[in-house]
Amino acid sequence: MLVVHHPDQALHDPDTVFRTGKFIAQPDRAERYRIFLDIVQQDRHEIIQAPLNRSAAITEVHDPAYVEFLKTVHARWTQHPDYGPVVIPNVHPTHRMYRKPTELLGELGWYSNSTSCPITDGTWPAIFASAHVAIHGAERLVSSAAPVYAMCRPPGHHAYPDLMTGVCYLNNASIAAQQLTKRFGKVAIVDIDVHHCNGTQFIFWERPDVLVCSIHIDPRLSAPYYAGHADEIGDGAGKDLNFNRPLPWATPDAPWLAAIDEALTKVRAFVPGALVVSLGFDASEHDPVGAFKITNEGFAEAGRRVAAANYPTLLVQEGGYLSPSLGGYLRSFLRAFEGIAS
Ligand SMILES: [Zn+2]
Repeated sequence: MLVVHHPDQALHDPDTVFRTGKFIAQPDRAERYRIFLDIVQQDRHEIIQAPLNRSAAITEVHDPAYVEFLKTVHARWTQHPDYGPVVIPNVHPTHRMYRKPTELLGELGWYSNSTSCPITDGTWPAIFASAHVAIHGAERLVSSAAPVYAMCRPPGHHAYPDLMTGVCYLNNASIAAQQLTKRFGKVAIVDIDVHHCNGTQFIFWERPDVLVCSIHIDPRLSAPYYAGHADEIGDGAGKDLNFNRPLPWATPDAPWLAAIDEALTKVRAFVPGALVVSLGFDASEHDPVGAFKITNEGFAEAGRRVAAANYPTLLVQEGGYLSPSLGGYLRSFLRAFEGIAS
């Protein structure tokens, strides 16, 4: 398996985030990057560093003003002597609030919906690198059609064109899928992270050339809360090209794999030229998210089934947080995938 990464991805490592009135551990720690890198090195995959030369691909999906904001906000923030070292919003627009201000705190709230996306001095280089890992993964898939694992971190699938949310800033899988449509025409995205891919869904909501399928914890029960229901099916030219399968708390392997089969059936009917898998391991029984009960063998079986679909495939890392089992899930998925992939 060809693996794409970039060392700048580890530069973003906020250690706490303010939520529900107390400081809790920020789940997307830089250690995740090192755990994934260790596994792909131990398993002797071909590992390459992404070049950082495709900024224009990011703004094909994201609002240029939002991208410029992400790039500059930390420098703006640190000009205030009374502000701390980490950018964290404290105000957000809600229903019936439609005008973006220019003042820093107001603008910060405009581009975010929670405190889950802290910004340090290393955040921009890390998210810029993570997006380029996905972009270069797509480039490699275009040139060879052999499967590629884009070892993205920070993750991306919650990010909207102009909104950071759920530890996501730039939507890596969507940026890659957009590039892949140029070569492959129709592209399918299957998201098996435990959370609904609300950003990805929004980005391709009216697109006839991108099918989005997501298997996730019921949004009535868990983040991202405000999207991911089964009756969200796309609109306009994208109608019936959005498939959500919300599942209950503590879902084990069998119904989760059955939902992946349902998604792959949708994919086959769509007849895409390429497949993007938003690969999260936070559905695991040992993940601190704690929503589902997927086992190591469950992830291996998911890898087998995705590979058996037999499309040119880009695997894009999404969530999956710190536990002693995390690296093993990646190993199991990749080994099972390669055991099947042609
Ligand atoms: Zn997740």
